[in-house]
Amino acid sequence: MILSGWGRFPRVDCRVTRPRTEAELQALVAEGALIARGNGRSYGDAALSAQGTVDMRGFSRMLSFDAATGQLVAEAGVLLSDIIAAFLPRGWFPLVTPGTKFVTLGGMIAADVHGKNHHKDGSMAASVDWVEVMDGDGVVQRASATQNAELFGYTIGGMGLTGIILRAALRLRPVQSGWIVQETLPAPDLARAMALFEASGNATYSVAWIDCLASGDSLGRSLVMLGEHAAPADLDNRRRARPFVTPPKRRLSVPFDAPGFALNRYSVGAFNALYWRRGRRAAGRSLVDWDSYFYPLDGIGHWNRIYGRKGFAQFQCVLPLAASEPGLRALLAEIAASGQGSFLAVLKRFGAQDSRFSFPMEGYTLALDFPVTPATLALMDRLDAVTLDHGGRFYLAKDARMSAATLHRADPRLPAFLAMRAAEGRARSFASALSERLDL
Ligand SMILES: Cc1cc2nc3c(=O)[nH]c(=O)nc-3n(C[C@H](O)[C@H](O)[C@H](O)COP(=O)(O)OP(=O)(O)OC[C@H]3O[C@@H](n4cnc5c(N)ncnc54)[C@H](O)[C@@H]3O)c2cc1C
Repeated sequence: MILSGWGRFPRVDCRVTRPRTEAELQALVAEGALIARGNGRSYGDAALSAQGTVDMRGFSRMLSFDAATGQLVAEAGVLLSDIIAAFLPRGWFPLVTPGTKFVTLGGMIAADVHGKNHHKDGSMAASVDWVEVMDGDGVVQRASATQNAELFGYTIGGMGLTGIILRAALRLRPVQSGWIVQETLPAPDLARAMALFEASGNATYSVAWIDCLASGDSLGRSLVMLGEHAAPADLDNRRRARPFVTPPKRRLSVPFDAPGFALNRYSVGAFNALYWRRGRRAAGRSLVDWDSYFYPLDGIGHWNRIYGRKGFAQFQCVLPLAASEPGLRALLAEIAASGQGSFLAVLKRFGAQDSRFSFPMEGYTLALDFPVTPATLALMDRLDAVTLDHGGRFYLAKDARMSAATLHRADPRLPAFLAMRAAEGRARSFASALSERLDL
C-alpha cells in the first residue's frame, strides 16, 4: 500500500498490518523489523516502513480516569480528538497539544509533541506518568521516571524506535470552559516579536505567525498571539450558562490538488501582507472557541492538497536562547532572499527542557512549510547549515529530507540513543524509512 506522512512526501510502498490484540502484535514483532504508525500526522517518513508498518489505530480504548488527579489511562491508538470529546464536557483538557487534534496518544508520546505552552508547561513528557512498551521479543514493560527510567526517557521523543507503545497514563488539566481569551499583539520586526515573547512568560499560551517574506526593516514582522483558558467571569451570560458548549464548525475541504504554480512568491507574498494587515487591525482581546484556537487547520479537510501533487515538506528547528536572535535573522534573511515563502511560518518560545532525545530545548523554534521543489529542497539545506552554525537542532516528526550527516552533527545525544537502540536488539526490531535515512 502506498503511504506517506501528512506532507505526502516521500511516498513509500509499505506492507501495512492492523493488529487488534497484543497477541497479534507479538506475532508481528517476531516476523522482523517494523515501525508503529499512529494517525500519519507526522510530515515525513517517521511512520513509514516498506517491510512492516503497524497501524495502531485498532488500540483505541480509554481504560480508566481518576477525577481526583486528572489521570487518564488509554491505549496508544486513541485519537486526541476523542479524548477531548470525552473529557472537555467534564472540565478537562490536554495539558499539551500539537496544532492538530487528529493525532494518536502513541504518536504524541513518540514525538514528544509541544504546544503553545512549552515555555510554561513543557512538552508531552511533562504530562505522561507512565508508558507500557513492547520490545522486539514481544515483552511488555511499564516505564516511568522511576521504573525502567532509561526506556521511559528514550521512548518519549524516540520516534517509535525503542518499541511499540501499547498504553499510557497521561494527566489532563482542569479547565472552566471551552473558550480561550486571546490577545493579538502586532510586532513590526523580529526584535519586537522576541521582546513580546520575553515579556509574556506568564501567559499560558503564546505563539507568533511570522511573515517570512518580509525583509529589511520589516524582517520578522509578526502577530504574537497570547491565550488563557477563559474563566466564568470572562464569559457573557449565555456562554456562562453552558461554558463547554462551543459552536460546531463548518468543515470545508480542499477538493483536489492545487496546481504547482499556485504557490509562488507573489501569491504567498500577497497572502502574508493581507494577513499582517488584518491581524494588525484586529489587535487586542477576543474570545475564541477551543477548536478554532488550538486547531485552526483541522477545519479544512485535506488542506495538505494545496501544495500540489508533489507534496510539501516542513522545516522546523530550535535555536538555543543565546543564539536565537542572530540565528532567526539569518534564517529569515535566507528565506526572504530566496522568495520561497511559506504562509505557515510559526515562531514559538520554548522553555527549559533537558531530555534524553526529544526535540525541545530552551530557545526559539521556527516552523515553515514549503512545496517540494528542487529550489525549496536546496533552500532547506541552507537553512540546515544556518541552524547548525547556531547550535540548533531539528524536529524529526516534521522532517522528510535532512541528511544523516546533518542530524549527527546537530545532536551530541545521538551516540547514547544509538547505544540504547543496539542494546537488547531494539535497532534490529524497530526501523522506519526515517531511521534508515538518518542512520538511527
Ligand atoms: C497540522 C499539524 C500541526 C502540527 N502541530 C504540531 C505542534 O504544534 N507541535 C508538535 O510537536 N507537533 C505538531 N505536529 C506534528 C504531530 O503532532 C506529530 O507528528 C505526531 O507525532 C503525529 O501523531 P500521529 O499519531 O499521527 O503519529 P504518526 O505520524 O503516525 O507517527 C509519528 C511517530 O510516532 C511513532 N508512533 C506512533 N504510534 C506509536 C506507538 N503506538 N508506539 C510507538 N511509536 C509510535 C511513529 O513510529 C512515528 O515515529 C503537527 C502536525 C500537523 C499535521
